[in-house]
Amino acid sequence: MFDKELLKYFSNLETPFYYYDMSLFRKSLKTLKQAAKKYNYNVHYALKANANNRILETIKEYGFGADCVSGNEVQKAIEMNFSPEKIVFAGVGKSDAEINYAIDHSIFGFNSESIEEIEIINEWAIKKDKIVPVSLRINPDIDAITHDYLTTGLNENKFGIPLPFLDKVIEKTNHLTHIKLIGLHFHIGSQITTLEPYIQLCKRVNDIQDNLLKKHGIELKHINLGGGLGINYEKPDTELIPNYSRFFETIHKHLNVQKNQEIHFELGRSVVGQMGSLISRVLYIKKGIKKQFAILDAGMTDLIRPALYGSHHKIENISKQESIMKMVKYDVVGPVCETSDSFDNNVELPKTERKDLVAIRSTGAYGEIMVSQYNLRNKPMAVYSDELLKKNSHIDILI
Ligand SMILES: *Cc1c(COP(=O)(O)O)cnc(C)c1O
Repeated sequence: MFDKELLKYFSNLETPFYYYDMSLFRKSLKTLKQAAKKYNYNVHYALKANANNRILETIKEYGFGADCVSGNEVQKAIEMNFSPEKIVFAGVGKSDAEINYAIDHSIFGFNSESIEEIEIINEWAIKKDKIVPVSLRINPDIDAITHDYLTTGLNENKFGIPLPFLDKVIEKTNHLTHIKLIGLHFHIGSQITTLEPYIQLCKRVNDIQDNLLKKHGIELKHINLGGGLGINYEKPDTELIPNYSRFFETIHKHLNVQKNQEIHFELGRSVVGQMGSLISRVLYIKKGIKKQFAILDAGMTDLIRPALYGSHHKIENISKQESIMKMVKYDVVGPVCETSDSFDNNVELPKTERKDLVAIRSTGAYGEIMVSQYNLRNKPMAVYSDELLKKNSHIDILI
């Protein structure tokens, strides 16, 4: 991923920065588009994974919709020209201002998680004399087999309408004059690396639909299965593009789709994860009593996932060639005044020196978007592979 020319370019840049491989990104988007098209599935990109302008522009080019979890995300999607009829708005608690904004812009629909919220949406809809489309987010009580903080579909989680309440919520919603119930929504978690939870989800959806049809005679036009498809953090190069076709094929095989029903997904991490790397310089190699620390100029303010979820990213010293060097173990840490400001322990790297460049891989999702300015640190900039090619050719011409 990082050839000599690229390294030469990097060597003139201030660190840390996010590097986005736009050609990998485009390949991945194309693969996703083709895989979804096979079954006529609708894909909404989850803005919360990365909402940077270049990335959103590129995603929009491929015709995907947008999945938003805040009013500002809805606004961003609209500003970036995603068509409102492809924008869905989820979230466990939407404020009145957010509800208003979304109604005013006639988005595709709300994914709502409580009758309490649906009643408020209805009140606003009455005032605006609009009929508002709503899908019910259901908590299907399925274990996504992922990090505790990344599972959302268990009874103990705050998300979704508990299954036993579903009948009651549907009954109440049907009495609301300005709400149109259009579908069911699910999102069971994130970084899901086996397809088993999705098979469970399909079975659960089938049961729910059988029940709804039998009991209420209700047919819903839309089923939204959310996002959550995981990526390979340990060995990114073996799976730079997620296996979307296997994912959709599994859903297709296990989900009973009703006549004229449309199926939706909200993918975030899998769409943008592998195309991003956080590039940082080594400030110091510090000897500890039992350890050696590689202290980077990037910290938890630039990439919080390791501190927040204990997640592991592949770390590479891209200034040194692995095959010809002696390997040494380092605790790779940031400069922020927190013990949790550590990227990983006992990382084997070629013998590393001050000013070496390090790549923290698979950081396109939940990286730049979660940047903070704690310790009043600067925000890392973003560097796009296609822009730097342009710049290089420009330089060539000048020379
Ligand atoms: C976070 C989120 C997603 C995207 O999840 P990924 O794991 O990034 O694919 C989709 N839908 C909802 C409702 C979410 O909250």
